[in-house]
Amino acid sequence: MATNKNDDSGLPDDDRRGGDAQRRQPTASPEFKKYIDLMSRERKMGFDERVAAVSEVFGWLDRLRYLTSPSDREVTIYSPRFDKTVKAVTFSSNNYLGLANHPHIAERARKAIDDWGTGLAITPLLGGRTRLHVEAEQRIAALKGTEDAVLFSSGFAANLGIMTSLARGRDKDFIIADQNSHTSVQDGLRMSGAAHAFFAHNDVDDLASLLAEHRGRGKNVYVAVEGVYSMRGDLAPLDVIAPLCKQHGAILVIDEAHSSGVLGRRGHGAAEHFGIEGQIDLTMGTCSKALGAVGGFVAATKPIIDLIRSLSTSYVFSASLTPLQVACILGALDVLEKEPERVAALHRNVSQCVAQLKDIGIDVPTSSGIISVPVPKHLDVDQIRKSFFDRGLIIGVATWPAVGVGEELLRISMMATHTDDDVRALVRVMDEVVVHG
Ligand code: PMP
Repeated sequence: MATNKNDDSGLPDDDRRGGDAQRRQPTASPEFKKYIDLMSRERKMGFDERVAAVSEVFGWLDRLRYLTSPSDREVTIYSPRFDKTVKAVTFSSNNYLGLANHPHIAERARKAIDDWGTGLAITPLLGGRTRLHVEAEQRIAALKGTEDAVLFSSGFAANLGIMTSLARGRDKDFIIADQNSHTSVQDGLRMSGAAHAFFAHNDVDDLASLLAEHRGRGKNVYVAVEGVYSMRGDLAPLDVIAPLCKQHGAILVIDEAHSSGVLGRRGHGAAEHFGIEGQIDLTMGTCSKALGAVGGFVAATKPIIDLIRSLSTSYVFSASLTPLQVACILGALDVLEKEPERVAALHRNVSQCVAQLKDIGIDVPTSSGIISVPVPKHLDVDQIRKSFFDRGLIIGVATWPAVGVGEELLRISMMATHTDDDVRALVRVMDEVVVHG
């Protein structure tokens, strides 16, 4: 089983622990080393030992810090670890288009409460859909150029739903996934009961040989990749993968969590970026990143969507999104359509940041909203995060188990609403703390 190096949950699972943890990361502080050590052994511990071990490191990790302002380019955030509230420009949110706090969306949300109340308290197939749900599903289908779409309560639930409804039998179904697939895909693979294999990250030759090996064995073959990989921000080469899947009669499933609203001139996603609209069998996405809301979706042909609605347990047995949440999704889709300049601003901010980083000797080209900078071996990851925080900037830090030991990343998420000054400040601190640190 491959190691998952592309998960932003920060939590380990079976596939992400193991030998790597024993090698330690030379750059980490003693506390972080302790965390890695404990988490890598946690499954072998008894209950009491596990509770004690986790509570020992949990506070130090500062995972319970919380916002005291709306989520925007600038936030105020309280850190229990340092017991202080800081006003900071954030480069760690996936709010790529700055839609998490947009007046039009807030207005639609308020109206939805007036029109529909605050909840539905029922699953979608037992009456938990409103006209708003139908409208959102149709608009997502239009965005992705498919016949139909279905809304899930989250992107995670959507990936579980795809895997468990499509691939159902060990003898009939075979799933090939990129090694860096998100945890929700990997959990879905296991839950599906289908046989599966991983190909080396973005290695099209490896994928081709797995496809050739499994072709003609009487099984349905599915290929799962991501439009943009969430840790390194690199793209799956879909212009090669889509025709390859077609050639081998495989069904292509793309996770567009980080590419919807980001890639393509109109932000329609990976297919628009590569000019391969209509060549993807199933597109999964989330409303919790560029759309600034919550919820997941799958877009495909009507028969496939009917199948997913009928068989995926994370859809059938889970309550619908509330009308309020769906109104936020609809509002975000309105803005995506009416304010295409936001997508252009995001692309411009990414290019400016990449160019300015190159000027200080950090060469990290990307076409996505994620700029990932490897942590130099002699620096302490935690110290870097703190140095940015102390200077009024929040950056994402990807550490084991999200990435391999010794492969730590500073993960910068760009937003359309970052100003030129924000970008300059980020690069200045990067120069001070990382280049000259
Ligand atoms: N897929 C990928 C690639 C992701 O990064 C995420 C979010 N971490 C998900 C799926 C799950 O989406 P959601 O947060 O909406 O559950």
